[in-house]
Amino acid sequence: MNDNSAVSGQSPAPAPRLVLATHNKGKLRELRDLLRGQVPGLDVDTQVVDASAVGGPDVAETGVTFAENSLLKARAVAEATGLVAIADDSGLSVDVLGGAPGIFSARWSGRHGDDAANLRLLLAQLADVPDAHRGAAFVCAAALAVPASAGDGAHEVVEYGQLAGTLLREPRGEGGFGYDPVLQPLGLDRSCAELTPDEKNAISHRGQAFRALLPAIVDALAGR
Ligand code: IMP
Repeated sequence: MNDNSAVSGQSPAPAPRLVLATHNKGKLRELRDLLRGQVPGLDVDTQVVDASAVGGPDVAETGVTFAENSLLKARAVAEATGLVAIADDSGLSVDVLGGAPGIFSARWSGRHGDDAANLRLLLAQLADVPDAHRGAAFVCAAALAVPASAGDGAHEVVEYGQLAGTLLREPRGEGGFGYDPVLQPLGLDRSCAELTPDEKNAISHRGQAFRALLPAIVDALAGR
């Protein structure tokens, strides 16, 4: 046993209770902020962790919808760890491309995670599309999976969020990631990359989906 608490006089860290199926520390921070103060007795900084902290699997996104992919990830992590698990899947859906890049957003140019190349390709594809037809939205599905061992049996919940806007012709702003520099949310005169993290979280597709999932998370952690 490697619990040094008796020697050091410190209490052992409380055991994790909720796992986010991601390796993205930014998403973990957002989820912790959302849950702070919402679940009695939950220490969000030690008991809400990402998959790597509890040996969770890296799950292939083999689904064909955001919802399927988020469920695949949440289910696999819940089964492997015996803990309540959350996952999200998101992307950009462009009207004139019939919803593409969609689930292929992270690898639209062929190489997974090459944000600059993905954005360049998208702008080139839309070069001749007039302003009136440059509608697009960030879309997110967030899934919760409760394993059979927790509370009153296994169950799953999926919620959605969407941030609608217009695609600019040139990237603008230094913040954010992915397609943020080219999506200008409806009603704003700045791109997502020109918003502060708090401004973006307040309206983002992921923020909306996680907030919609909050009651189910609270219930799952309360064993209801
Ligand atoms: P994932 O859900 O983290 O796998 O994100 C998939 C891809 O969608 C990312 O690599 C980005 O290209 C795009 N994406 C998702 N959410 C955002 C966002 O908030 N801003 C910009 N791009 C995003």
